[in-house]
Amino acid sequence: MFHTALLSLAVLAAPAADKAKPATNTKDPVCKMTVDEKSATFAVRGRDYRVCSKHCGDALQKDPDKYLDKDGSVKAEKK
Ligand SMILES: [Zn+2]
Repeated sequence: MFHTALLSLAVLAAPAADKAKPATNTKDPVCKMTVDEKSATFAVRGRDYRVCSKHCGDALQKDPDKYLDKDGSVKAEKK
């Protein structure tokens, strides 16, 4: 019993409060390449973004304002 209670507690605690919002972008914010749900994601300001590679993820995290608008939308997807 005790073990079960502990387990359900762990499950409840699993989606941590600071879990990033899931990524929805269809273009890499950095290189503007098309990305999809299989692409790697990087968290920036509490939100995940799909990127084509670690290289672009690093660039995005280093300078998010260059690639993202204040509301978190991807500049590359706007026209
Ligand atoms: Zn890229």
